[in-house]
Amino acid sequence: MHLKKRVLVTGGAGFLGSHLCDVLLNAGCEVLCVDNFYTGSKRSIEHLIDNPDFEIIRHDITFPLYLEVDEIYNLACPASPIHYQSDPVQTTKVCVHGSINMLGLAKRLKARIMQASTSEVYGDPAIHPQPESYRGDVNPIGVRSCYDEGKRCAETLFFDYWRQHKLQIKVARIFNTYGPRMHPNDGRVVSNFIIQALLGKDITVYGDGSQTRSFCYVDDMINGFVRLMHSADDFTGPVNLGNPGEYTIKEIAEKVLELTGSKSKIVYKPLPSDDPRRRQPDIALAREQLGWEPLVQLEEGLRKTIAYFEELLQSCTRQDVQ
Ligand code: NAD
Ligand code: UDP
Ligand code: UDP
Repeated sequence: MHLKKRVLVTGGAGFLGSHLCDVLLNAGCEVLCVDNFYTGSKRSIEHLIDNPDFEIIRHDITFPLYLEVDEIYNLACPASPIHYQSDPVQTTKVCVHGSINMLGLAKRLKARIMQASTSEVYGDPAIHPQPESYRGDVNPIGVRSCYDEGKRCAETLFFDYWRQHKLQIKVARIFNTYGPRMHPNDGRVVSNFIIQALLGKDITVYGDGSQTRSFCYVDDMINGFVRLMHSADDFTGPVNLGNPGEYTIKEIAEKVLELTGSKSKIVYKPLPSDDPRRRQPDIALAREQLGWEPLVQLEEGLRKTIAYFEELLQSCTRQDVQ
């Protein structure tokens, strides 16, 4: 007889997924982590392997999956531009075919399902900060489109399963998140700058560094996922989850230099195409519906992330992360 809630986390060996597995296990759930290790690593879940409530299944969710669970968090999808652009067709497939399979699973089981959507559905936004009602400005044929349009189509599928099959869906629009277990080689601004600073290499600011982003610490984000999953039955989202504190990329570079005490120099490189100018979440809906807001300040979160990368650099050869 099963008394514990069984929860499926797709992409559970990834950055956000592994933290979510930790939180769910601590809350007394049984966790099934499904991952094909495309960008995830065994290292991020190795501390859970001996936990009898934890199970790992190597599987690509673009193929059907039959198992029995009570709740599904659908996180499987490469998240950083370097990763999702290296096989763009697979990126669209995981968003579209992967979502169809996980929605089919949720439909058969009558299980709640949460989708990890993204602020990228807003594209290069014409409205600032972005409320959920903003429909976005996305290029359908650019290099970021496999991800942006894939995630937009996934949202469409979630809402059609909700309308057509009365599924209990929850859609989170996640804004840039950082913290321990970020990938060292994923080209994201926080991991790049910290590793460059720790190795004494040049800090690469793309463009003039005046573009902005808002950075949410991972613990705050996972707390938002769990609150969303347990929100009122009739609340579907989409709901923005992110930290409204907005910083220019140049400010992030300077903050990382200050906190690491590094002597690295800032150098300027060309801005990648379709790089959004500004991004900042409007989190009024999350405050109202979930009673949620981020608690970790940028400096505190950066210190913890820097400590993680310092340890990582000590435990592997420097070549691995260069
Ligand atoms: P990540 O790359 O660390 O994790 C994604 C995980 O999904 C990896 O473990 C990967 O191996 C797995 N995966 C990829 N394709 C798969 C497939 N076909 N079948 C099974 N597993 C597969 O990324 P993350 O930062 O943890 O992001 C998790 C989710 O959150 C993603 O859906 C991403 O789009 C979304 N998101 C993240 C951010 C962020 O700032 N980290 C922002 C917006 C949205
Ligand atoms: N599916 C799955 N696991 C399940 C149920 C369904 O992977 O437990 C997949 C299956 O591949 C199916 C898809 O989800 O094609 C969509 O399911 P749905 O019931 O919506 O549609 P249909 O079965 O009619 O294609
Ligand atoms: N960026 C940068 N230097 C780097 C990596 C990124 O200046 O080494 C910039 C990038 O051009 C973008 C911002 O930082 O304007 C955030 O990039 P990231 O890839 O982390 O996230 P996203 O563009 O998906 O928000």
